Amino acid sequence: MQLIRDKKREDRLMKNLKHKPLEGVHLTSLCSCLRAAYYDQVDPLPPRKRMLLYWIIGTMFQRKFYQKQNSNKELACPIGDGFIYTTPDNIKEQADFKTTRKFVQSELPEYWWPQVAFYAWWNGVTKWKVDIVYIGSSYPKKKDIPAWAPTEDDDCRAPNLICYTVQFEDEEIEEYVNFVLDRAEELQQYLSEWGRFVDGYGKVCVPPMEQSFKCGECSYAFQCNLGE
Ligand code: SF4
Repeated sequence: MQLIRDKKREDRLMKNLKHKPLEGVHLTSLCSCLRAAYYDQVDPLPPRKRMLLYWIIGTMFQRKFYQKQNSNKELACPIGDGFIYTTPDNIKEQADFKTTRKFVQSELPEYWWPQVAFYAWWNGVTKWKVDIVYIGSSYPKKKDIPAWAPTEDDDCRAPNLICYTVQFEDEEIEEYVNFVLDRAEELQQYLSEWGRFVDGYGKVCVPPMEQSFKCGECSYAFQCNLGE
């Protein structure tokens, strides 16, 4: 018996996973790496295979949990000359869906907070649900395992569903929304200077690197140090 890898078939199947780039700047991009958001605008590259597959996993879970009719209403929020797109997953239940490879015990990843606060602000409320499916491939590290786990109901092995409600104070919402708007403004400044703002070494200046776990999946990793 022989095992023959079929790259052509892989490519053909991957092509079915359509990725529709949105116009404007997506809220998630503003909350994660501004440099990647900048490249998305001036010289966009398609997502990497692995990233795309993670998105698809998330979308499938989301459809099953929320049912199709509730999900993905895009909202354009005008900011100056540009606009921010948000895609809250479940407006009816005021909830967002996440998949993660890192077990989320009680703290959400930093860049989720402004995103969730923005959804709450946009909808005139102070709380938002976050439904998380943990899809990590291994048992979480000991330090990440909460004291209560594992029990029969709260197993912290993947896959697992963990639901939270994030309740914000009014000032926190304001702080996070301002953070997003400031980032949008910063991005616009870089964009308006695109191709003109060249430093002393003849390099086009781009927003600073904001390295994170996402760098490993980022389509722009190879060109990322251009502006350094
Ligand atoms: S590789 Fe990392 S720092 Fe560079 S653009 Fe991508 S996410 Fe940002």
